[in-house]
Amino acid sequence: MTTHAVAPSADRPAPGHPASVVIVGAGQGGYQTAASLREQGYRGRLVLIDAEDELPYERPPLSKAYLLGEADEDQLRLRPATYYARQSVELVAGSVTALDPAARTVRLADGRVFGYDHLVLATGASARTLDVPGAGLRGVHTLRTTRDAAALRASLGTARHAVVVGAGFIGLEFAAAARRAGRGVTVVETLDRPLARAVSARTAEHVTQLHRQEGTRLLFGQGVAALHGDEQGRVSAVELTDGSWLSADLVLAGIGAIPRTGLAAAAGLAVSGGIVVDSRLLTSDPHISAIGDCAAFPQVRSGNRLRLESVQNAVGHAEAVAARLTGAARDYDELPWFWSDQFATTVQIAGLNEGHDTEVVLGEDPDAFSVLLFRAGELRAVESVNRPGDHLAARRLLGQGVPLDPAEAAAPGFTLRGHLAAPRGGAAVPLG
Ligand SMILES: Cc1cc2nc3c(=O)[nH]c(=O)nc-3n(C[C@H](O)[C@H](O)[C@H](O)COP(=O)(O)OP(=O)(O)OC[C@H]3O[C@@H](n4cnc5c(N)ncnc54)[C@H](O)[C@@H]3O)c2cc1C
Repeated sequence: MTTHAVAPSADRPAPGHPASVVIVGAGQGGYQTAASLREQGYRGRLVLIDAEDELPYERPPLSKAYLLGEADEDQLRLRPATYYARQSVELVAGSVTALDPAARTVRLADGRVFGYDHLVLATGASARTLDVPGAGLRGVHTLRTTRDAAALRASLGTARHAVVVGAGFIGLEFAAAARRAGRGVTVVETLDRPLARAVSARTAEHVTQLHRQEGTRLLFGQGVAALHGDEQGRVSAVELTDGSWLSADLVLAGIGAIPRTGLAAAAGLAVSGGIVVDSRLLTSDPHISAIGDCAAFPQVRSGNRLRLESVQNAVGHAEAVAARLTGAARDYDELPWFWSDQFATTVQIAGLNEGHDTEVVLGEDPDAFSVLLFRAGELRAVESVNRPGDHLAARRLLGQGVPLDPAEAAAPGFTLRGHLAAPRGGAAVPLG
């Protein structure tokens, strides 16, 4: 985001709209807030600040097409530079180091100060790093930014054996890319299966087999004790908690992300596992919202406080904040959904599995199926493996709260799409 030029000044905002909105963080959520505000007719001053010196970009391809050289930096951009000028969005490159809620200002590391009527914190999360001896060796990576991905892409060109620590989505996507690039890959995971917090045992087993068939070694129930290096300070081996060693010239720590809450906490905003917001994404200060990966928000249906890391969540939050600031406040109650691409397989999740007691599997093909997860007779989430039609139907079914009995779902011939279209109480749900 090298452009520092101030865009043409925006018009006077409509009555009731804030005179100026400053957004800290120009990732998926920050960018979307600016775009949605303009779409909703917001005409006040709009400032979008990011510490990364890049035009706003999307992160999902960083662990997929970009790593394999199938997408370049330009294809990651959410919009070209001309968009921001046309929309009078001031893009500012710089790190916000202080927030003063009383004065309603943010201060950048270089001393610049921006005043706001409303502030949106869209600061995202940073990759968790390994906390073991040797973690600082060359060849040890995390994956969050284009810079991280460029370094990994370069390393993949010469690496012989990659060790991935953590079998979460980012670790597994990287593992798939590394195998496709012809590298030896071992994935080390402390739990007994991959994606343990995100998917059912059934889907996890499918993912395990997929990676094993593609030649990846997966070691479960194993942690990393230390990383060892050569004389040049480059990683050469990974020592596991059982005392065994793996050769490695590339290590990716795929062990999760930590929400960036420092600014909010230092300014006295409530922080607990994320920046605490209410159902309208307002923080404990009525002039400050928080969205996306950094925000801990209440799930309207369950009352549970959640922090999600997904494109859907960042975009949904951004749209809800833009609607509120332009006079259409509503509680945020969108259905979470997510996708991951690994080799030729796409895993899609609709809803949230926070524990289930009944599972129904749709599909005879072992490589294309959906797992319907029920709790106390209520459908909570649907995991689809190479069944995009099921995923779309599940999103609508869950989003609209269409009831589904597990026994009905298990009956021969049942389909999610058919269930959506079935007349109930006289009214069919249109399939669109
Ligand atoms: C490699 C990778 C693959 C992914 N794949 C998928 C996927 O397949 N599907 C999916 O749904 N989701 C995926 N995600 C998650 C998704 O990209 C994130 O949930 C989403 O980007 C969150 O948006 P955000 O705006 O909250 O945060 P971010 O996109 O992280 O943006 C936050 C921005 O804030 C800036 N910032 C932070 N602090 C400051 C400060 N003090 N001053 C100035 N700027 C600051 C940062 O530089 C950053 O650019 C992936 C993430 C990664 C890293």
